[in-house]
Amino acid sequence: MNTTLYTRRSFLDTSIRLGVSSATVYAFSALSSCTSKQKQEEKSEEKVATNQAERKLGIALVGLGKYASEQLAPALQETQQCYLAGIVTGTPDKADKWKKKYNIPEKNVYNYQTFDQIKDNPDIDIVYVVLPNALHKEYVVRAAQAGKHVICEKPMAITVDECDAMIDACRKTGKLLSIGYRLHFDPYNLEMMKLGKEKTFGKIKLVIAEDGMKDVDGWRLDKTLAGGGALVDVGIYCVQGVCYTTGLEPVAVTAKEGPKKDKKKFASIEESLTWEMEMPDGTVAHCKSSYSEELNKLRAEAENGWFQLEPAYEYKGLKGETSSGKMDFPKVNQQARQMDDFALAVKGNRPSPVPGEMGRRDVKILQAIYESMHTGKKVELKWT
Ligand code: NAD
Repeated sequence: MNTTLYTRRSFLDTSIRLGVSSATVYAFSALSSCTSKQKQEEKSEEKVATNQAERKLGIALVGLGKYASEQLAPALQETQQCYLAGIVTGTPDKADKWKKKYNIPEKNVYNYQTFDQIKDNPDIDIVYVVLPNALHKEYVVRAAQAGKHVICEKPMAITVDECDAMIDACRKTGKLLSIGYRLHFDPYNLEMMKLGKEKTFGKIKLVIAEDGMKDVDGWRLDKTLAGGGALVDVGIYCVQGVCYTTGLEPVAVTAKEGPKKDKKKFASIEESLTWEMEMPDGTVAHCKSSYSEELNKLRAEAENGWFQLEPAYEYKGLKGETSSGKMDFPKVNQQARQMDDFALAVKGNRPSPVPGEMGRRDVKILQAIYESMHTGKKVELKWT
């Protein structure tokens, strides 16, 4: 197989997906009419739509921690469809720094008490919730009720009930909801999806997905704020990887907690976990997440070959290989592409490829994995 050829083509496919939706904004202008009044009205409607399509949408980041400050804010300097319009923070010092650094006007700065007033601010189109996991539900619901479209970081929430409340709030207010699944905008991970979908190497038999990191601290060690340990934080990428590589959802999971090397540090959460996912076509996935080991792999073994990424889930520096050769894709800013795609979804009134429903699906799988870990039994999953 010509590796260079297939990699370039699929990258083009991705770029087209990111660009194509803006065309839908213009589509309604196609109907012609006879009267000049109607024509004039059409022209002004067209102008509004064009302005809306050309306007960069304003994003407000909620929670100015590590991910917001080191990844999202810099990415928002590269986006074409949206920009950093506002911030929500409980720390006045941070507000001052961010206002200066990113030229954010005082009227677009909120704290957690004044947050709901964001509803009166036309500069803010999208609220991006980047808080500890247990706070996602409250702020997504409040953002939707303030009439804003929402991006929520992973994991979407702690429980499926919370996910339902978040989806409901956005549905009731007619706002779009998406999850910060940046890897759906990364060419290497998109290639894994494509190779799996097109069965380039035949039917997949086994997927191996591992994600782990060391030196974790703060709220991630507190079950109340994190909802769990390594699984919900980094293992969620394995769950995602298995689902998007196979294009399937698991019908059963079996999990086993790893030994705790540091019982005090990991008193309320698991330090590591291994689990198996059974897919409806008989494919099996062997997964591992850890807070005491560096792991970063997504591998599919199929009838006629294999394909893999290692590292698979990083922001950059991903490496991909197949049994036919190496993958080679241009460097991209995953977060910029993710936020631009969401802005285009809002402008084009189309769904996000990473909607709240996907976040809910993953939380349901995570909960089943924990249930199996606690009971020692296989847990079946039903999808209706
Ligand atoms: P962080 O600890 O660096 O930042 C959390 C922010 O929330 C801080 O600014 C903190 O002040 C604020 N906060 C508000 N209320 C709080 C409370 N009660 N307790 C603790 N902090 C509170 O965390 P982070 O790494 O930026 O993670 C934030 C979210 O982003 C998490 O949901 C995480 O899973 C997600 N995340 C996603 C990615 C990704 O690649 N998509 C990467 C990192 C983090």
